[in-house]
Amino acid sequence: MSYVDEVLELVKKKNASEPEFIQAVTEVFESLKPVIEANEEKYKREAILERITEPERQFKFRVPWVDDKGQVRVNTGYRVQFNSAIGPFKGGIRLHPSVNIGIIKFLGFEQIFKNSLTSLPIGGGKGGSDFDPKGKSDREIMAFCQSFMTELCKYIGADTDVPAGDIGTGAREIGFMFGQYKRIRGLYEGVLTGKGLSYGGSLARTEATGYGLLYFTNEMLKSNGIELAGKTVAVSGAGNVAIYAIQKAQQLGAKVVTCSDSTGWIYDPEGIDVALLREVKEVKRARLTEYAAARKSAQYHDKASEGTNQWTIKVDIALPCATQNELNIDDAKTLVANGVIAVAEGANMPTTIEATKYFQANGVLFAPGKASNAGGVATSALEMSQNSERLSWSFEEVDAKLQTIMVNIFHNADKAAKKYGMEGNYVAGANIAGFEKVVDAMLAQGVC
Ligand code: NDP
Repeated sequence: MSYVDEVLELVKKKNASEPEFIQAVTEVFESLKPVIEANEEKYKREAILERITEPERQFKFRVPWVDDKGQVRVNTGYRVQFNSAIGPFKGGIRLHPSVNIGIIKFLGFEQIFKNSLTSLPIGGGKGGSDFDPKGKSDREIMAFCQSFMTELCKYIGADTDVPAGDIGTGAREIGFMFGQYKRIRGLYEGVLTGKGLSYGGSLARTEATGYGLLYFTNEMLKSNGIELAGKTVAVSGAGNVAIYAIQKAQQLGAKVVTCSDSTGWIYDPEGIDVALLREVKEVKRARLTEYAAARKSAQYHDKASEGTNQWTIKVDIALPCATQNELNIDDAKTLVANGVIAVAEGANMPTTIEATKYFQANGVLFAPGKASNAGGVATSALEMSQNSERLSWSFEEVDAKLQTIMVNIFHNADKAAKKYGMEGNYVAGANIAGFEKVVDAMLAQGVC
């Protein structure tokens, strides 16, 4: 059995109840095979794969808080500090009822390679809780965030571990968490990113993941001789990533005709009205039915009663921006049959392994999330730089740096794929480019 297969078996045995983590490791290992085979003896002796799949440490903690009726509620909090070979741990906090240790580990593992790809000095980590922010009052959100940070603050810091937003954690939650950190630790430091502009946040951080996704997609298309302008695009999700992906796609001349949330999806042949979508989702925190009610050209489809999704619409480009495993093999077949040219992941691992392979086998340009959605964490690292020098850069300055980073990520992934004879396989290219830098740093730092 090869070294890769040996460690994969070990990972499966040790983490049997964590399917998402196993899926992420399998995907990464499959594409790393040529690199590992070329260095098998050394990597095996150094136990590189065993080390890279074992978090440096992880925390699981009780998060008690009181709801508006005076009832005490208890959630579970997690922080996985996966790999600090190239910098302090960095990765978001996910607040969603589906959160468990396996999901946080899969996200933390992916984060190692993504952060490495940005070329910035940030290691990989992730955190979260099974708390559901939906339907909670601002006071309840604050009570939860303060309790969560009361425990988490023992393990993080501007030079050790710097969390950020993710599903369910936006500017409001980051603000409450930052306030609590400052109060307990007595430190005003860049311990969280995604902060508000009045207390150390970076301009363009809110837009960064969605914008970065489009900068990457544009570069990928360009380098394959295709223009983004004039293309029709399907987006899933209606959160932070989706909204700014839609906005940038439209600015670059494409027409986005779908978006979705967890209960339904919108088909708007006239093109999504971003201002209206932001009003419904960011201001009112309402369902997409409100978008449809306010816009004549929009059709609302209920997921549960119709059993359909936005991937049934004929488009040139698909951008999954909601959550993991939201685009499966049946969706991939429909998209390919409808002539899709490119799929770029805005969310983390939104495409199943089977669907990814189907796209690649059918000549669809496929951009893996760890490369194409790295703009968020890259801009978070730029926020850390600004905090350290106690300066704020202009929107244009941050946006220009983001564009350069995304274009470089594409070319690094492209080059790595070519180097190992897998031209056009950006999944392999991204994994290889991210992995090589981390391993180099791990080897240089000895057995740790
Ligand atoms: P948000 O919470 O802002 O939005 C998530 C969107 O996805 C919402 O529209 C939500 O619908 C929908 N959604 C969430 N869970 C499900 C589900 N189980 N089924 C269907 N729809 C679902 O999160 P973000 O936009 O920040 O994150 C989206 C994805 O992008 C995640 O995978 C995240 O890890 C990834 N990502 C985010 C980055 C960032 O900077 N924000 C950076 C890199 C990656 P509803 O409103 O109904 O809950």
